[in-house]
Amino acid sequence: MKIDDLRKKYDYLVLAYGAAKDKLLGIPGETSLKGVVAAKDFVGWYNGQPDQQKLQPDLQCTDTAVIIGQGNVALDIARVLLSPIDILAKTDITENALENLKTSRIKKVHVVGRRGPYQVAFSAKEFREMLSLPKVGFNIPMHLLQLNTGGNNDNSSIATSRARKRIINLMKKYQKPDFINKEWELDFFKSPKRFIESQSREGRVGSIEFECNKLDENLKAIATGELSSLDTGLVFRSIGYRSVAVPGLPFDHHQGRVPNVQGRVMADQTDSKSIIPGLYTSGWLKTGPVGVIASTMIDAYQTAECILEDMEYKNSLNSDCKVPSRVETLNWLRDNKPNLPVTFSDWKMLDDEEKKRGIKLGKPREKYTEVEEMLKIMKRSS
Ligand code: NAP
Repeated sequence: MKIDDLRKKYDYLVLAYGAAKDKLLGIPGETSLKGVVAAKDFVGWYNGQPDQQKLQPDLQCTDTAVIIGQGNVALDIARVLLSPIDILAKTDITENALENLKTSRIKKVHVVGRRGPYQVAFSAKEFREMLSLPKVGFNIPMHLLQLNTGGNNDNSSIATSRARKRIINLMKKYQKPDFINKEWELDFFKSPKRFIESQSREGRVGSIEFECNKLDENLKAIATGELSSLDTGLVFRSIGYRSVAVPGLPFDHHQGRVPNVQGRVMADQTDSKSIIPGLYTSGWLKTGPVGVIASTMIDAYQTAECILEDMEYKNSLNSDCKVPSRVETLNWLRDNKPNLPVTFSDWKMLDDEEKKRGIKLGKPREKYTEVEEMLKIMKRSS
């Protein structure tokens, strides 16, 4: 369906197609070697996203995994790799992923950041969860937590936010459990320079070469020229997501989002007065790929309020033409795209069915991972 078709059919249109791609490091081996996996694909795989089901990552080929990036997605991946299976089995992770994880050989996970402990991007809640995983140990270079260390900065002035202080305190106070069978580690001040092919497994990653960093006065990572390396058979690139431009729609390539003022789309990103009437944006397409679900919801309310405000002034995409009724639009969609629209009651059918499957397995839900199956549940044929 083309944007122009939608424009003709609706008074108000909200662009909320998210951030479908992941950022690339742009270094050798990143896209050519097996075992270098995009975090987005791995997360999609264990969460049952239909187009990631073929991924089937090889978790048997190595005992050490490396995650590049220190955000919440990196911690999510580390948690899935290290959690005891009986804990994972009670979550909504797919049975397919669970079967693979049951035979995983991963015992150690390095979560590597290009900056220091005072610049990690994950939140305290997710970090605490990781620290409380049963039989899982945590390592951190303690000397980097002291003042005036770790990249020539006075860390006391950096750790100003309460959230950041909570994280640093958790790092300092951590006590290793008596018995551990797996462990993870936060590594700092390292940027991957290249992924190196394994000598024993052709076409597969065998190690990573890193360049060491220090911080400049703006807390940016600056390469020192010093090199180090780490052996691994599995790497996750977890350095953030990016939205894609849609032809015919404004897009700010620098910020990676649709230019907007509080959700109202701007035709020209340099001119906040160039609002396109009736066109809005929400979610990561509006803000860039940042924030937890709660902050994304608050942003969505802001966009909804703009629409309500504009409705009062009849400021819409189609203020001059007759807009078809809801029924006409639904019929038009069904004639042109038989599987559309997916209504709330359609989704509810799927939701109920997934929950029923979950009860049998002792988990909140067992997801359907094929679109064909989902359409059948919703009593559609594809
Ligand atoms: P993120 O929070 O933006 O973290 C990205 C990480 O990658 C940072 O440590 C960043 O370091 C690093 N990085 C970026 N470019 C790099 C490069 N070229 N080389 C090396 N490192 C690089 O991204 P995310 O983890 O994908 O999460 C996206 C958003 O979803 C976040 O707002 C997150 O909080 C949210 N989320 C929340 C949850 C939850 O609430 N449980 C779960 C998943 C995701 P620098 O700081 O140096 O740039």
